[in-house]
Parts: sequence; C-alpha cells; structure tokens
Amino acid sequence: MNFDLVVVGAGFFGLTVAERCAAELGLRVLVLDRRDHIGGNAYSEPEPETGIEVHRYGAHLFHTSNERVWEYANRFTSFTGYQHRVFSTFKGRVYSLPINLGTICEYFGRAMSPDEARALIAEQAAEVSDPGNLEEKAISLIGRPLYEAFIRGYTAKQWQTEPKDLPAEIITRLPVRYTFDNRYFNDTHEGLPVDGYTAWLERMADHSGIEVRLGTDFFDVRDDVAGNVPVVYTGALDRYFDYAEGELGWRTLDFEMEVKRTGDFQGTPVMNYADIDVPYTRIHEFRHFHPERAYPSDKTVIMREYSRFAARGDEPYYPINTAQDRSRLLAYREMARREDGVLFGGRLGTYKYLDMHMAIASALSMVDNRLRPHFVEGERLISGGVDE
Ligand code: FAD
Ligand code: UDP
Repeated sequence: MNFDLVVVGAGFFGLTVAERCAAELGLRVLVLDRRDHIGGNAYSEPEPETGIEVHRYGAHLFHTSNERVWEYANRFTSFTGYQHRVFSTFKGRVYSLPINLGTICEYFGRAMSPDEARALIAEQAAEVSDPGNLEEKAISLIGRPLYEAFIRGYTAKQWQTEPKDLPAEIITRLPVRYTFDNRYFNDTHEGLPVDGYTAWLERMADHSGIEVRLGTDFFDVRDDVAGNVPVVYTGALDRYFDYAEGELGWRTLDFEMEVKRTGDFQGTPVMNYADIDVPYTRIHEFRHFHPERAYPSDKTVIMREYSRFAARGDEPYYPINTAQDRSRLLAYREMARREDGVLFGGRLGTYKYLDMHMAIASALSMVDNRLRPHFVEGERLISGGVDE
C-alpha cells in the first residue's frame, strides 16, 4: 500500500493521530514502532501465571476533565468506576495520601478540626517565607514535620538528588486538603478500561486505513518509507537529531515483579514507602486495580518500583529538566522548526511529561491545526512540534 502519512510510535499520541487521519480524513497511515507491541508506555498484558493484568511500564491510571478526550476515549473502551487512592508507609505506620486531614490527625496523634489543622500547618510553614528550592517550597506548603516524614526521603529516592537541590516547581502540584477526602485525582472523569489498556489501544489501531509495523525502528527504514510523505514523529527529540546538541536528561524506573502466594499482599493498589532506607519508592499490587474481575484468590502480583537516572539505552520515563536540559531543548526545538514535513509530538518528541489524556488532547489538536489544513485544505505543512 502507498501511504499518505507515516507515524513513528504506536503510543497514545501516535495512535490518536493515526486513527483520526484514517477515520476522519480518509488517509492511509503507516504506524511504526520499534517495540514488539503497540501502546507505548500504556501497554498492559496478563501476567502468565495468574492472568492478572500488569502494566509493563508502570501503573497507568486514566483521569481527565477534558470532555472531548473523555468522549473520544469512550469510543474505544468503557471504563470501570475505579478511583485512585494511595497510602504511604513511614517508620512502620501507614498514612493516607495526598496529605489530608486524615494524614495530619494520624501523624500528630490527635483529632483536629479543619481550622485547627490549618492553624497548626500555617505555624509550622511560617519558617520559610521565600522558597527557592523543593525543600523550602514543601515546608512552606506543609511545614517541616510532614515534609520530613512524607516528602524528603521519597523525593530523594525518586530524584536521587537532595530536595534542596531540586527546583521548587516539582512539588507545586502537591495538594494539601483540610478534609478527609483522599482521592488522588481531582478530575471530572476517572476509571480504568474495562478490558484493559491493550484492548483499547488495539481498537484504535483497527482500521483498514492503518497498517502497524512492529519491531521496526524508524531510523532503519526511513529512506524506504518516508520519501515525500509527511511524518509525525513521537520518538525522542534528541535521537532524531543524532544528539547534535547533547542528550536530554531523563529518569528511568526499574520494576521488579513478583508473584506472591497470597490472595492479597497489601490490601490496596499502591503503597508508597517514605523511609529513605527502603530502596524502592512504591509497590503496586495489580489485582486491586480491578476488584470487579475474577482473579485467583491464592496468588497475587506485585511490582516494586525503583528510580534512577537514565543512561542511553534505558527507557526514558520522566524528563529531568535541569537548566542545561532546557537550553538544549530550545536548540532542538529550533532545529525541529526547520525540519520540513516532520511534526514532533508526544512525550518523547516534545520532552514533556504528558499524562495519557494530555497526549490524546495534544494529538487531536495536531490533527485539527496542522494535518487537516494540510491534507484537506491543501495548506503547507507547518512543522515545529506540537502546539504548546
Ligand atoms: P509513548 O507511550 O512513550 O509512545 C512512544 C512510542 O514511540 C513507543 O512505543 C516507542 O517504542 C516508539 N518509538 C520511539 N522511538 C522510535 C523509533 N525510532 N522508531 C519506532 N518507534 C519508536 N499517564 C496517565 O494519564 N496516568 C498515569 O497513571 C500514568 N502513569 C505513568 C507511569 C509511568 C511510569 C510513565 C512513564 C508514564 C505514565 N503516564 C501516565 C504517562 C503515559 O505513559 C503517557 O501519557 C503516554 O505514554 C504518552 O504517549 P506517547 O504516545 O506520547 O508516548
Ligand atoms: N511525592 C513525595 N512523596 C509521596 C508522593 C509524591 O514526596 O509519597 C513527591 C515527589 O517529589 C514526586 C512528586 O511528589 O516527584 C509528584 O508525585 P506523583 O506521585 O504525582 O508523581 P509520579 O509518581 O507521577 O512521578
């Protein structure tokens, strides 16, 4: 088949572009992925011994307040009523997250009204007036005792950098609630795909105008497939330009999966470990993401998560965004703007942490603002990455 568009990467960004271009614009789309499965980092599969659905690249929870994304996602899957909640173990005791009135009462060992808790935290937070780094920012939000319990050790393990040396922005999104509400996300819609992520992603790719080639690295085949056809590239931005400006920094995760001989290991999907001397940051127990399923009652699957800097060849997970990364990124964006016929998108192609709903929203706007005008109205294809 001759193609009208080549999409590099079969993650949520690439598949949304491919699906819209095939179904709505009537294009023939070739999707390439160097992995042996579709779905990018949202890919999930049954663990062979137990049949429990595991997320190979880390637990993925879907949530969005974007009505267009919610409507679009529901064309391919329905969602369970799952609501995410996280707990944290610190010095042998368990607390609820994100920090809420329950956490505060439990930690300080007494019942407090919302006003009393607010007054206590305000007094403790007053020691910092002009926060310049993550530690100071966190103390200004929650006071030193809660910071030292729940944030310092966890953050040091996650970033392998002292919180004093990390930018304040990382913690800005940390919610503190003076109610007993311990839902992790504030979005209007939340849930997990009823038959799993892979079934959802496969339905997106299931269109006669889409051909998916797995196990295929774009850079090995670009001369054969690209030619004069526009390319939507969702691989790593620095790799595209052969690291000409240096490498962009990422954190990677190591996952250690284990089948345990019990029907329930920890009683909840995610347990964070705040102590610095516990080497992992958290443990996921996948059966709890789908309490509605008939999973075995004598076995369970857990995954310990460890965090470290990514070397070349590791899976890049979270952009680090040091000052040097940001200046390299500007240089790469400038190069991307000059790259005719290529649009850069997705998490790796823009060097931005994107949740799934953000990747889908961003792909839908790329179709609206760049691909449709080009293919339907005959306008010149404007390069330069995704709309910010
Ligand atoms: P990806 O999913 O990374 O897909 C990019 C694809 O491009 C990959 O399959 C890759 O193999 C392919 N590729 C790269 N280079 C090439 C090449 N040269 N040739 C061919 N193929 C190539 N989001 C949420 O909403 N909720 C969560 O709970 C959540 N948890 C997460 C946990 C972790 C640990 C991580 C890392 C991410 C999490 N996310 C979560 C974010 C989610 O994974 C992303 O939003 C989503 O994967 C973005 O999709 P993408 O298509 O941009 O990128
Ligand atoms: N964080 C923490 N303790 C926790 C959970 C989160 O200190 O128990 C901090 C940590 O610095 C982390 C940030 O809050 O990088 C964001 O946490 P979130 O769980 O949203 O991050 P993700 O798991 O998506 O990286």
